[in-house]
Amino acid sequence: MSKICFIVGHGKSKSGGYDPGACANGAQEYKIAKEIAEYAQTYYNANFTEQADIMNDDASLYLTDRIKKINAAGYDFAAEIHLNAGGGTGTECYYHKGSEDGKRYAAEISSAICEALGVAQRGAKTRLNASGRDYFAIIRETACTAVLIETVFIDSPADLAKLAAPEGQAACGAAIAQAIAKVRGVKHKSLAAQKPTGPLYRVQVGAFRNRTNAEALLAQLRNSGFADAFVKAEE
Ligand SMILES: [Zn+2]
Repeated sequence: MSKICFIVGHGKSKSGGYDPGACANGAQEYKIAKEIAEYAQTYYNANFTEQADIMNDDASLYLTDRIKKINAAGYDFAAEIHLNAGGGTGTECYYHKGSEDGKRYAAEISSAICEALGVAQRGAKTRLNASGRDYFAIIRETACTAVLIETVFIDSPADLAKLAAPEGQAACGAAIAQAIAKVRGVKHKSLAAQKPTGPLYRVQVGAFRNRTNAEALLAQLRNSGFADAFVKAEE
């Protein structure tokens, strides 16, 4: 079973209709967040020794459904992907108040996105409601460590340009995946399956036209303790 999950923010409203999230400059938050989440999951599963799930990439789950599903699956980490709005610029990532784990994930993720896209760093943050609890339900109501990633501002044309094309979306997804793997200490597949590299040196002790003569030398070598000696025929 996968231990982590990428969640696409928005997509389904409380009343059951489509919720595009923030809309600006001809773009919809849900559609871009979905692309980033898919790239993040693909990158994670292709490169690391742990598997990641994706949720709400079909816009079928309202916020409370997403929370229920995360809690039922028993993940130990979940990241919901959004685009920000409201007149700012750059990347920020929210985590559960008081969670050292959450803070580490949020800091690594926001740094990685900034570096990959060349946008401003707003960093790891908490946001509380009037009763002093986490403002975002996906962070407040989930049992696992959860973060909410505000990748860039959809209402900033310069920010949006970074995520408008598949290249930027893929770079953002890869950055998120790499940051999560780093915090989790998950191995890269190529390192986990590393084989010795470089040339292989063999020592040849004779070449014969007659197989019997070759076998005789082989027997002599084996008797002398060279257990790995062998006869190889070349045409
Ligand atoms: Zn959002």
